[in-house]
Amino acid sequence: MSPDQHRSIIQQAAAQCGFSYCGISAAAFLEKEAKELEAWLQQGLHGKMQYMENHFDKRVDPSKLVPGAQSVISLMYNYYPPVEQSHENGPKIARYAYGEDYHFVVKDKLREMVSLLEEKIGQFTARIFVDSAPVLEKAWAKKSGLGWQGKNTNIIHPKSGSYFFLAEIICDISATPDGPIKDYCGTCTACIDACPTDALYEPYKIDASRCISYLTIELKDELIPETFHNKMEGWAFGCDICQEVCPWNRFSTPHTDKRLAAKEAIISWNTVDWQEITEEVFKQLFKDSPISRPKWSGFNRNLQFLQKAP
Ligand code: SF4
Ligand code: SF4
Repeated sequence: MSPDQHRSIIQQAAAQCGFSYCGISAAAFLEKEAKELEAWLQQGLHGKMQYMENHFDKRVDPSKLVPGAQSVISLMYNYYPPVEQSHENGPKIARYAYGEDYHFVVKDKLREMVSLLEEKIGQFTARIFVDSAPVLEKAWAKKSGLGWQGKNTNIIHPKSGSYFFLAEIICDISATPDGPIKDYCGTCTACIDACPTDALYEPYKIDASRCISYLTIELKDELIPETFHNKMEGWAFGCDICQEVCPWNRFSTPHTDKRLAAKEAIISWNTVDWQEITEEVFKQLFKDSPISRPKWSGFNRNLQFLQKAP
């Protein structure tokens, strides 16, 4: 089969498995991104996420992850919820975390896609990734034309916005690559203006150590640093502000995946409801949810800093 035929089979399989968009890149060393990542790490903009310093060579070279890699298949899976949180004073939770943990949901879709490809193409070597291994997923998504990387650093699809999980299949299938697309941010600065912690310290650059997602999920300290105490804007898990204000997200359409359906507690509980549950109840209710990542203690810590100081 030719690289063009492979490309077309890959595109069909992605659609069949429920991915909204699929783009292909040649699996080559990420030279420019390697320099950018090195500088970002040297400036300490990853905060206390030490794991980001590990496996540098694998992050920038797909052949270190899959020997003989020829293609990186980038995929977008829609998570824009059909319902929003309904309470006015409850803790805000990032939309990606309303339902079952995306690592499980999207990985199942990727396995299904690899099986489909094996049926059509025959045996090949591949590894699948969903935000769980050293892969620069935004760099690959951008390279493959799934969207441009906006000033808020998210990948934005020109027809559907940015509420998508990114996933990858690195494989030794030779397929015709797609090219990058234009940046449509233009003169807009809505995300930079709206970020309450100034984490978007200049266009296209993020200081992750200032981002509410990092502060509420990744930071394991007993307290959130004082400088952010009146800047959390009600967020207890993650933050969607720079996506909410992005004009391209007016094109978002709700997902239809039952496994991503919002948990009742997330939609309707107020802060007191959350504070009243025990650790056992928290573990039971959220065992398959991204919310379990900071654990009960971390989630409770976050509840202390929801509101702006009077
Ligand atoms: S997620 Fe929130 S805190 Fe982080 S960069 Fe976006 S607006 Fe700023
Ligand atoms: S809010 Fe504006 S500047 Fe920010 S990512 Fe969206 S279009 Fe780009």
